[in-house]
Amino acid sequence: MSEPSGVVCPLCPLHCDDVMVNSDGSVQANGCEIAESAGSLVTQVARTDEAMLARIAARKQPIRVITSGVDLVAARQLVQWQSDGVIEVEIESDPSIQAIGTVTRRDGIVAATLSEVVTHADLVWLIGEVDPAWPRLEEKLRFESARSGATIDKRQVKRWERWTADFAGRMHHAIEHPDETEAGLEFQTWSQCFRDSSYAAIVIGPGAFDAEEAEMTAAMVARITRRRNESARCVCVTLDPAATLRSVHAWQTNESLNAVSVDDEIDSAPVIRLVGIGHQTSVDRSVDLQIGGRDPGVENAKAFMPASPWMNSMVIRGDGSVTLPLHTPTALSSDFPTAIEQLQKVLPESRTVVPNCSVS
Ligand code: SF4
Repeated sequence: MSEPSGVVCPLCPLHCDDVMVNSDGSVQANGCEIAESAGSLVTQVARTDEAMLARIAARKQPIRVITSGVDLVAARQLVQWQSDGVIEVEIESDPSIQAIGTVTRRDGIVAATLSEVVTHADLVWLIGEVDPAWPRLEEKLRFESARSGATIDKRQVKRWERWTADFAGRMHHAIEHPDETEAGLEFQTWSQCFRDSSYAAIVIGPGAFDAEEAEMTAAMVARITRRRNESARCVCVTLDPAATLRSVHAWQTNESLNAVSVDDEIDSAPVIRLVGIGHQTSVDRSVDLQIGGRDPGVENAKAFMPASPWMNSMVIRGDGSVTLPLHTPTALSSDFPTAIEQLQKVLPESRTVVPNCSVS
């Protein structure tokens, strides 16, 4: 039996570098449910609908491919196929992650890397579905401080499921006007903690804001962050699963990729979902074909093709700070197709080239 292989985890934008994969495909990732269930992904059975696959292969117009994020090899291939007019790639983004990205590009924000937060932050506000999306983030915030030579003695962590625009506005008011008490005792307490901190980090997870007012709420968070930097340090951090795809697209086309909000309706053209980094089943929409990830059932995907969660590639961590190598675990045979190899099988043969699966 081969020794377990240590790999960087490709499954969420945190990309932990200490995941062990055994020769039977089982995974040890310090209790992370997403990673430890990855071993069963390749044993799933394909559900294919021949008529639908033929409709995709015969299509003259670009085929819509939606994804929450992919690795570097897949990103290059997707961008190439898009340039060739075979597919049209859209990012299936969480509204809160998308909103904070939009506000950052438009108004500016004070951002930081995860390592900086781990090293310096004495107060961390976690907003949204941080644990389900990035199960080991809090472990890193709590336990990696010593390893990274942190400058703090004690870190306070406060979490909220969701902020509405009204909540963000009241928080902003309470921070700015400590002597006014009408916001309520809770706001006074939280805002006092915030004002007492010397380095606060506001971490925006999926579902942090109500979808219909996500941009307004994100703008208020950006304002809180910027104002705080007039007297102390405050940063806003998120992890974008599409960091690699966005970067590759921007380098190669000088343009931004379109984003599909999870609430957008998709028209009748065939839609393929490519599951790579950070896909969450809670935000499922119905598609014609899903490649990779866990079979979401016929009500969410008319057809399904399994794909290897592991690949030889690279990835940019979701905070944009580092590029990490991805490997197919040496303990496993590497003949299970990746999502991009599966996608190539269903696209019109005459219009695609064999994927380049090497990193150069
Ligand atoms: S937290 Fe994310 S990167 Fe880390 S082991 Fe779990 S799924 Fe993988």
